[in-house]
Amino acid sequence: MSVLRTGVIGVGHLGYHHARLYGQLDGVELVGVVDLDASNRKRAEDELGVSAYASIEELLVQGVDAVSVVTPTMTHATVVLQVLEAGVHVLVEKPIAPTLEEAEAMVCAARANGKRLQVGHIERFNGAVMALFDAIKAPRFVECHRLSPFPGRGTDVSVVLDLMIHDLDIILTLDRSELISIDAVGVPVFSDTEDIANVRLRFASGCVMNLTASRVSVDKMRKIRIFEDNAYVSTDYDAKEVLIYRKKPGEIEDASNPMAHIEIEALEVSKDEQLKLELASFVECVREDKRPVVNGEDGVRALKLARDIVNFIEEHGPKERA
Ligand code: NAD
Repeated sequence: MSVLRTGVIGVGHLGYHHARLYGQLDGVELVGVVDLDASNRKRAEDELGVSAYASIEELLVQGVDAVSVVTPTMTHATVVLQVLEAGVHVLVEKPIAPTLEEAEAMVCAARANGKRLQVGHIERFNGAVMALFDAIKAPRFVECHRLSPFPGRGTDVSVVLDLMIHDLDIILTLDRSELISIDAVGVPVFSDTEDIANVRLRFASGCVMNLTASRVSVDKMRKIRIFEDNAYVSTDYDAKEVLIYRKKPGEIEDASNPMAHIEIEALEVSKDEQLKLELASFVECVREDKRPVVNGEDGVRALKLARDIVNFIEEHGPKERA
């Protein structure tokens, strides 16, 4: 097996961990990293012992097969197009891009250059989500909460594109029927775009989904709760825990306490580091010329719904009170 030569463009908060983990994968060499910020370059050199460059061209001349792009969302398209056109496979962080036009240009460039384009929807590699996908048959009602304190990063885009998009990718994978309606509201608090948003979606399957995302919450919560005809499934993304609640078979003996007839099953869930699994999966797709678990089209699908939600919020924003 030949060594796969990798790089990371943007080694801020998250990109540092991409670089750390490429260095731990078998058959993978981390050739170098790129960052415009000298202090982030120095941290990567000092702590990871990797060459750090101030421009993408300096990395490309070293010869790389695949890179992660972990720069701010507004820069994804420019960076990704440059790298794909240089003949390098790309894992770009989520959201794929701020606009659909840019995202579709990235998908076209990957196709035209015969390169893999994966999008960093990391929850697909969360052991709890993998167990959840196996357990769910036909969701009837879904409730998602993704709440966190104000990060000071990622606020160049709406909380719908920054945080809710993780859950949008998951629910679009759970229910592939046509989206029938959207009702949404969003409010900016500290940034120029929505910091908190809520949306209710109805699908042709009859399933109704209610999602809330906030980056101005005191407490952190990342949960998805799903109701089916015969079960309620509660998943905690952070605790990596999936609990299934079902009514016990047979007649309810004690009508005064029907809840005593609920049984709870805890699914077995892998606790492996999901970013490492995501990078390992990307490397495997590049090596074996396979479709990424979350490819460019999947990134576009989640972005399209996120943009539709943001557009709805803008069109139905607060009206002046009489
Ligand atoms: P960050 O600001 O901490 O880091 C971005 C880095 O990119 C900075 O060091 C900056 O100097 C560098 N940079 C900017 N433009 C560049 C360019 N043209 N070339 C090279 N370097 C450049 O941001 P972050 O929080 O690490 O987020 C980066 C991306 O990762 C965003 O798209 C964000 O949405 C995504 N993200 C995803 C998750 C997840 O759960 N998958 C979590 C956090 C962030």
